[in-house]
Amino acid sequence: MDDKHHTSKTVAVVGGGLCGALCACFFGKHGIKVHLFELRSDIRQQEVVVGRSINMALSKRGRDALNYVDCEDLIVKNGIPMYARMIHDLDTRTHPIPYGTSKDQHILSIDRRILNELLLTEADKYPNITIHFEHKFFSWDPDQKKAVFYDGNGERREFSNLDAIIGCDGSYSAVRNALMKFEKINFSQDYVPSHYMEFRIAPMNGEFAMETNHLHIWPRREFMLIALPNLDKSFTTTLFLPINIFNAIQTEDQLIDFFQTYFPDAIYFIGKKNIITNYFSSKPLPLISIKCAPHHSSSASMVILGDAAHAMQPFYAQGMNSSFEDCLILFEQLNAYNFDFKQAFLGYSEQRVANSHAIVDLSYYNYLEMRDHVSQTSYLVRKKVDNL
Ligand code: FAD
Repeated sequence: MDDKHHTSKTVAVVGGGLCGALCACFFGKHGIKVHLFELRSDIRQQEVVVGRSINMALSKRGRDALNYVDCEDLIVKNGIPMYARMIHDLDTRTHPIPYGTSKDQHILSIDRRILNELLLTEADKYPNITIHFEHKFFSWDPDQKKAVFYDGNGERREFSNLDAIIGCDGSYSAVRNALMKFEKINFSQDYVPSHYMEFRIAPMNGEFAMETNHLHIWPRREFMLIALPNLDKSFTTTLFLPINIFNAIQTEDQLIDFFQTYFPDAIYFIGKKNIITNYFSSKPLPLISIKCAPHHSSSASMVILGDAAHAMQPFYAQGMNSSFEDCLILFEQLNAYNFDFKQAFLGYSEQRVANSHAIVDLSYYNYLEMRDHVSQTSYLVRKKVDNL
């Protein structure tokens, strides 16, 4: 590797979420100068982070990418292994379905915020990475190698001498919009009727209220409830439900009736009062999937990774894992082309588009499968939750 050659380069990584923070570490490790721009203020300084607070299932492809920048062990230490799904039937009976035959076949439950904070702290450790919080990407001029951002005070901030823009700014990516001005991009987005809302199962008598090392699932044909364990012995519980049902539940009695009919044991775990308070103080959040091709512009020195390139339904639990894998594939190409950005971005896009379309489709089919094609709980249990 020609280290001298890459250390003279500077990139802007836009988005300090899960993918952007990790991607910055990848560039940082290779000695490339990185400006990491994040729209929000530093989540490490905030008591409450507004927005998505879900915990995530981390699996092999995500862990491989974390390993590349030597932080797999750190993240694993902050996660809880889940060796099996625990299926909650309508009659409140439960039965586990193991992920494999040995204990090393497991996925990890990790809090999104903790994961994001750890990755930002890792990025901060590289002397060649500068993080700019409260910087909203606005535009990119590849000829002048100049990007424009707006800071938290609404002030225009220009950054020059950038060799590339790496867009990791999520489903509603501004970098992807900018990319479309330079490249003929095929783009599609889909919302599904299902939305999601989170609840919390608090510890009971200082212990986990349900079996700890499991991903708990209440599969109910066109909707479901899932719960993942947290380090503080709580569970984050997510209800996926078509928006028309969310809208139809208008009163406390209707809500408790609904839970009593479909998730009777969850009432005990979450608590009636908590269900009511949480439900009527939250908004159901939408689920979007995105496909685009290509994922780059060689002439404009731009590339997009993560949800910016391929947001997907969460039912395969692969959105973040695929986003992390994007970093690995990008760096496979950068290493192969000795950090020639033009060739590496093309190689990355050629490799990644088909695979990302496939996982977006699989995630969508799994959603349809869960919603429409299931008639018996036992059948549902086997078929639908295989990938969670
Ligand atoms: P994001 O996490 O959205 O981060 C984008 C960042 O860019 C944000 O910090 C944002 O503030 C910033 N930004 C946005 N616009 C700008 C701008 N103009 N300028 C500067 N910064 C900007 N995946 C899994 O692998 N496992 C799971 O178990 C899992 N569960 C999920 C459950 C649910 C309910 C949902 C909705 C998703 C789930 N996912 C899961 C998917 C996962 O959340 C995403 O794939 C992942 O967050 C993508 O990371 P990202 O960094 O690309 O995007």
